[in-house]
Amino acid sequence: MYCIYCWNTDTKVLDSRLSEDWFTVKRRRECLNCNNRFNTYEKAEKIELIVEKSSGKAEDYSRKKLEWSIIKAFNKRNISFKKLDLIISEIESKLVNKRKITSEEIANYVLENIKELDESAYIRYASAYHNFKNKKDYIDFISKNF
Ligand SMILES: [Zn+2]
Repeated sequence: MYCIYCWNTDTKVLDSRLSEDWFTVKRRRECLNCNNRFNTYEKAEKIELIVEKSSGKAEDYSRKKLEWSIIKAFNKRNISFKKLDLIISEIESKLVNKRKITSEEIANYVLENIKELDESAYIRYASAYHNFKNKKDYIDFISKNF
């Protein structure tokens, strides 16, 4: 995404809103170079991407599945549609030009994006993904990542 003022490519999403038709998302962005703000409109498009799982099985990328895995990690803690959409969009922006990705890479993108937001969701996501079995697995992970 280019900034419409200075052609810089680094922009930050400040706000994300679902339109009334439910298929367009309006985003308020700020350019990280000149700090000007502008809106973008995004329409849903199917991402054609194969996800390779650790078992070796491959399946089509599903935004819904990714959403659920994140919602689960946030458990009963609040995550708003807006935040969830920001996280998924951030991740999908890294996926658009790929044809194949491993589930591990996706999990790492998720972890990168939720760490700052909610530490316990971050740990929960990591424990689900890496299959933590005991206290030691948690302690090792926490001492490595915090
Ligand atoms: Zn700019």
